[in-house]
Amino acid sequence: MKRRDFLTALRHGPTAGGRAARVDAWTWVGGGGDRDADEWRRSFARVRGAGISGVLVGGGDTTVLGDAAHAEGLSFHRWTWMCNRNGDARVQAEHPEWFAVSREGKSSLTHPPYVGYYKWVCPTRPAVRAYLRDLVDRTAADPRVDGVHLDYIRYPDVILPRGLWGKYGLVQDRELPQFDFCYCDVCRETFRAQSGVDPLDLPDPPSNEAWRRFRWDSVTALVKECREAVHARGKAITAAVFPTPRLARRLVRQAWDEWHLDAVFPMLYSAFYLEDLPWIGTSVTEGLKALTAAGGGTSLRAGLYLPSLDPDSLIEAVEIARNAGARGISLFDMGALDDVHLAAVQEALRA
Ligand SMILES: [Zn+2]
Repeated sequence: MKRRDFLTALRHGPTAGGRAARVDAWTWVGGGGDRDADEWRRSFARVRGAGISGVLVGGGDTTVLGDAAHAEGLSFHRWTWMCNRNGDARVQAEHPEWFAVSREGKSSLTHPPYVGYYKWVCPTRPAVRAYLRDLVDRTAADPRVDGVHLDYIRYPDVILPRGLWGKYGLVQDRELPQFDFCYCDVCRETFRAQSGVDPLDLPDPPSNEAWRRFRWDSVTALVKECREAVHARGKAITAAVFPTPRLARRLVRQAWDEWHLDAVFPMLYSAFYLEDLPWIGTSVTEGLKALTAAGGGTSLRAGLYLPSLDPDSLIEAVEIARNAGARGISLFDMGALDDVHLAAVQEALRA
């Protein structure tokens, strides 16, 4: 497929010879490990055979992976961690001041919330934006890359999905200070210059509308810089996002309906939210409504979490997403696609 065709397919979805459009299917892929080029081709051929048309690949070698994906007719997008810089030793060593600071005054570099790998840079800082924009620009410059897929493009979870509260022994019915970011010098000074008040001096920071909006806009401004860089390369830009614009704003400060990406992949992992399968449909509907209100132009693919879906549930989830108007689905992840799930995907896509 030519690049232009890949982009058209991403924005408008698959067509079936004039019949009603079907959903397309993608999968997230961990590209590390010791597989060689032939093994990657076999892995990609296997999912392509079931009807999957694109891969979102993190890690590994772009040349090997991109060539293998294209040889099997798959669209190849680079899955890229953004604000979470756990794997970025250079930034951690050279720019500790870039890391987000909690309302308790602790840096996520030295005091990562929840888990050791939660080391997040602050999206308000111009140097951070320039660094991440350059990262996606260099990724998009590779001729093998059809698109850049942003992940962790947000603040750390100020509130975890409800289904995870027990795991961490938390009741997050409000924003707790140790999970509330970012109160670094740059955020405090920038907000003070705009509003006249230091966010740490607000009587109740979580309830302040302007302070909430400031942080949504901070992520959105970072996305805009990345979008412009990737589009200047003639490539697509997409993102893995939280389930709905409303939940995403509240839990991780993502106003993703305002991002104007080519596609969003909301992670509709119902079990994380103690929800049932129909929730996938209502979430798709809510997301599409918000995207339309923001001017349209962004397609939506429903992210599905394989470990909590048996094959029958997977078929039902695809059907629900399709009926709600999703342009496609995306499966987390290729490593969890055993033969029975793969057969279910194939059956669901044929419907
Ligand atoms: Zn900050």
